[in-house]
Amino acid sequence: MAEKFDVIIVGAGPAGSAAANVLAKAGLKVIMIERGEYPGAKNVMGGVLYRHQLQEIIPDFLDEAPLQRPIVEQRFWMLDENSAFQFGHKDLSWAKPPHNNFTVFRAQFDQWFAKKAVEQGALLVNETVVTEAIVEDGRVIGVRTDRPDGDIYADIVILADGVNSLLAKQLGFHKELKTSEVALATMQVINLPAEKIEDRFNLEPNQGATIEVFGDSTKGMVGTGFIYTNKDSISIGTGTLLSDLVKNNVRPHELLETFKQHPMVRKLIEGGEPKEYLAHLIPEGGYHSIPKLVGHGVMVVGDAAQLVNGIHREGSNLAMASGKLAAETAIMAKEVNDFSENVLDTYRIKLMESFVGQDLKKYKDATHMMAKQPQYFNEYLPLLNRAASEMFTVDGTSKWDKQKKIIGMVQERGMFKTAIDLYRMWKVMK
Ligand code: FAD
Repeated sequence: MAEKFDVIIVGAGPAGSAAANVLAKAGLKVIMIERGEYPGAKNVMGGVLYRHQLQEIIPDFLDEAPLQRPIVEQRFWMLDENSAFQFGHKDLSWAKPPHNNFTVFRAQFDQWFAKKAVEQGALLVNETVVTEAIVEDGRVIGVRTDRPDGDIYADIVILADGVNSLLAKQLGFHKELKTSEVALATMQVINLPAEKIEDRFNLEPNQGATIEVFGDSTKGMVGTGFIYTNKDSISIGTGTLLSDLVKNNVRPHELLETFKQHPMVRKLIEGGEPKEYLAHLIPEGGYHSIPKLVGHGVMVVGDAAQLVNGIHREGSNLAMASGKLAAETAIMAKEVNDFSENVLDTYRIKLMESFVGQDLKKYKDATHMMAKQPQYFNEYLPLLNRAASEMFTVDGTSKWDKQKKIIGMVQERGMFKTAIDLYRMWKVMK
């Protein structure tokens, strides 16, 4: 008879390891199955990791987690061919504990986070692919793996297997993802000495900055470019809706190369030595794409549940929050010895009541609207840059006349159309 566990977790990313830490700490018998050579080996993120959710699971993480730089400045660029309308926020108190968020390398972070679960008593099995869920009388009772005699049984299975969750699909929890529901992100890590990074980004040692770049970074397609500072490297990437890439016949690696060559970007990475090139999908469907989250003996967490807030570049924190809530529900289910969908539904209710469900609900129509209305990226961002260039060019024209010229630019697009677009934007962001 195969060994039976309280909980099987499929995937050792932030969602899976969050669940494993909470469950193992509570004394449950947990196994985490990871297809990679080690946790994080196949995982990709920009990547900004948020303190709050991690600290709830590992209170003293600052002493040992493999972090790069605490972020003290977040900048936003509305990029055109030769100009950028910029804004941002810098808070030096974020340089000090408890900090706000950090850049990390997922290969290091995921390994550490999974190790913490193992220290609590969880069993981690690497290099093993879960091929299907074992279902009996409508209940998930275990998983089949690609190992010989690889069936494993448990009261509960937590699916933390990432964006394209084959197991959630097999269970009929979601259909094939549409190309408008995912972004394809490509990124590169570029080695650069720490002093150069600090000079170029106006930082002290052990301070970091992020730049989110809209507009020309994705050639007006729905998506962003990003530039994040690590200790002695820079992560740079672009992410665009897969549907837009297909429609415009753009190759993602070419988009990244063009972004790196942009005159405003080039100087930031000049002289750097490219280290790694990575690509991965990001769930972008938001609230409307959340699949069925719970069944008899099974819960879905993290990217597998499409829990990404693309507007705020948050995914890892939603993954950890959902993993923790699923684990707490599993602990409760174990106490009452009932693993039915009815009992596990507590996870769905708590998730939707938490910041995860609330934030995804707030922006539920944002990505869909922008995908359907490309003018926000390919017309308004250039217009914003033209208006700013007009206002800041000192050429003997009065500021009243400049204002009139800018109004004329908006009139070219149509005042009514613009008013409708502004209203639409307010409606999906409010
Ligand atoms: P994943 O991290 O994808 O982990 C899933 C795990 O399951 C993997 O380890 C995988 O190997 C394993 N697995 C999959 N299938 C199987 C199987 N059948 N059997 C066994 N194991 C399996 N989020 C942020 O918060 N901040 C950022 O700055 C940010 N930037 C990003 C930049 C990029 C380029 C990308 C792609 C994503 C970014 N995200 C960011 C999103 C973030 O990475 C995800 O939301 C987060 O990793 C989700 O965690 P997860 O554990 O649910 O899934």
